[in-house]
Amino acid sequence: MAEYANIIVDISHDKLDKTFIYRIPEALADRVGVGVQVYIPFGNRKIRGYVVELTDRAEYDTTKIKEILGIVGRSIPIESRLIALAGWMRRNYGGTMNQALKTVLPVREKKKRVQKKTVCLALDGVEAKNQLGVYQRKHNTARARLLEALIAQQELGWEVITGKLNVSSSVISAMEQAGVVRVLTRVCYRNPVGNLPAEEYSLVLNPSQQAVVDAVVRDYDAGVRRTYLLKGVTGSGKTEVYMELIAHVISAGKQAIVLIPEIALTYQTVMRFYRRFSDRVSILNSKMSAGERYDQFLRAKNGEIDIIIGPRSALFTPFENLGLIIIDEEHETSYKSGSVPRYHARETAVERAAMEDASVVLGSATPSLESYYRAGNGVYCLLELTERVKKKPLPVCTVTDLRSELASGNRSILGRRLAALLEDRLKRGEQAMLFLNRRGMAGFVSCRACGHVIKCPHCDVSLSQHGGCGPDTGRMVCHYCGHTEAVPAVCPVCGSKYIGGFKAGTQKIEQVLRAQFPGAGVLRMDFDTTRSREGYEQILSAFANREADILIGTQMIVKGHDFPNVTLVGVLAADLSLHVSDFHAAERTFQLLTQAAGRAGRGDLPGEVVIQTYQPEHYAVVHAANQNYEGFYGEEIIYREMVGYPPVSNMLAVQVFSREEESGFALADRLAAEVKEKFIKPEEKGAGGTIPLQLMGPAPATIGRINDIFRFVFYVKCAKYDKLVQIKDLLEEEMQKRQSADELVQFDFNPMNTM
Ligand code: ADP
Ligand code: ZN
Ligand code: ZN
Repeated sequence: MAEYANIIVDISHDKLDKTFIYRIPEALADRVGVGVQVYIPFGNRKIRGYVVELTDRAEYDTTKIKEILGIVGRSIPIESRLIALAGWMRRNYGGTMNQALKTVLPVREKKKRVQKKTVCLALDGVEAKNQLGVYQRKHNTARARLLEALIAQQELGWEVITGKLNVSSSVISAMEQAGVVRVLTRVCYRNPVGNLPAEEYSLVLNPSQQAVVDAVVRDYDAGVRRTYLLKGVTGSGKTEVYMELIAHVISAGKQAIVLIPEIALTYQTVMRFYRRFSDRVSILNSKMSAGERYDQFLRAKNGEIDIIIGPRSALFTPFENLGLIIIDEEHETSYKSGSVPRYHARETAVERAAMEDASVVLGSATPSLESYYRAGNGVYCLLELTERVKKKPLPVCTVTDLRSELASGNRSILGRRLAALLEDRLKRGEQAMLFLNRRGMAGFVSCRACGHVIKCPHCDVSLSQHGGCGPDTGRMVCHYCGHTEAVPAVCPVCGSKYIGGFKAGTQKIEQVLRAQFPGAGVLRMDFDTTRSREGYEQILSAFANREADILIGTQMIVKGHDFPNVTLVGVLAADLSLHVSDFHAAERTFQLLTQAAGRAGRGDLPGEVVIQTYQPEHYAVVHAANQNYEGFYGEEIIYREMVGYPPVSNMLAVQVFSREEESGFALADRLAAEVKEKFIKPEEKGAGGTIPLQLMGPAPATIGRINDIFRFVFYVKCAKYDKLVQIKDLLEEEMQKRQSADELVQFDFNPMNTM
């Protein structure tokens, strides 16, 4: 039992850094926990506060610490539950309690609230008509104009009257004094969706969709809360299923959170929800100001909305009666936070749902290995939609072997089949998307003649070539264990001299297309052309309006939008994501290829897909071409089992940041040694069979230096997550003792990328 509690007295962003320590009286010991609201003496008043942390350490004169007076009420307000969630996040992902609190609690509004002024009619219909006659006879044209407009519409915005109707504010005041109109001032929450009317909703679910809905609803009504994995091919109608489930929990007086990756949070998607649920829906996105976001949280807390749609952070919307959390495209890496606490929205959603008696639905055409693994173990409940709505066929997919293209003298980025199909689509006036599945810095080294890729002999991931200058230039490095070796002059397998770093860019492809198809309209979408969200939407809608024939882009183009006229999708080089030095590489490639293929043939015309690659026999390519998730999963999980990567095991990345290269590496080395000493028992070290705990590294991080801060990383793998939490606690304590301003250690549990 902890002796003390750290307590915050005011839930506002600014004050989160200030907690006060209080002693826990014995009588309350078993009831005081993180998130509990308590009464405390403060000055000579008695006020309320929230327990944010329990501790045995008091860095303060213990004789002066006062006691908690009591516990507030029995009902647990939403703040308490979010604080408890923050406590769980801190424990499971590392960082400080303040960092966790700042993640889950809404940022308080600082600016004055926007007020909306409107004018409405103060007379009844007959009186108003009489008054209008009076104004007209007196030639009070401005007054007549306003009154006439109000008779038609009851209420008008101040700006409309002074602007469009050209009626001055003095005229309005005079009419107000005469008792003809009333001026209203209302606090106006910034509603990002605008006021659009809900349309009549008439879609009927097909039998497979209905079966999924029934399964969840049956559990829900019986009081059973679970996490469901809805695996449904692209276009199988998952979004309609979500909406039906949401309608059900709302009818039970509950609220729903819908997480969608930001990139897929397009106007089209939002409008589907809006059409069905009207202004009971709101959205969050990263482009909103802190004030706008806070407004949405306030609307949720006040019960003005039932549904929030947004990226990762929408998970912390303070609904009082949360019934359902939906995570669409649950395999997306954007659900993992890039800053401390590095939480995963999926796990955190499952935890929040458990705390608040809600269900979770995870949806994807290509579930993450983690989720499918858990579904296989019965942790999640698997539900499936195996066909596209209205039995629209999935596109036909062919694979082009770029090695044989090279062998027969074609050195272009476009293989012969893709070029021929493009030509054909241009002739028919149909559209095509060309997709460059580049991820991060693809620095792998491969042979263009035989497709061989150089891998780390210890970790079975591709080695990365170092660019730039410095002693490592021209060498290849493993970002898990630090192994390095020189780039070979010829391919170690076939002896070809076509071996080297693999590069391709969207701009280059645009040039090639313009040269080869001079008449075609080409749009390009990448980080250069889409700095702003508007740029992104603009390009997508220009393409949707058929202002161009071909859209080239990175993975940005595979999400969110439906393009019914697209009948050809080309993946230019599947290898770009296949050989990133990361154990997720095959999984990401399979997902990207499958999602890209799902873009073709969404309209009435059937679609075709061409995947170009130097490794047509790779299982990620083969199964993506056949749209065979189970086939892919079966092979990938064996690899993860063999090498002990998640989801079969758990993995903790320990990142060390330092101003000095040498001392940074020394620190990483020392921490790793300490983990080894305390957690790997000597008798287990050399034992055969499964090693309970395994250490990799330390090594310089993928980006070894940013802003003159050197970065090192080591990894610990262990089947038991709790053991990794213990290691984190030990290292956090260690770093606290060191108290160094030049060094920092951060943790990433089950990292989504190589550090
Ligand atoms: P997913 O989310 O699985 O990709 P969507 O829910 O977006 O699938 O559905 C794909 C398309 O099919 C959408 O245009 C949607 O409006 C339509 N659709 C979905 N369910 C039905 C249905 N039961 N009847 C008719 N159209 C449907
Ligand atoms: Zn070769
Ligand atoms: Zn290695």
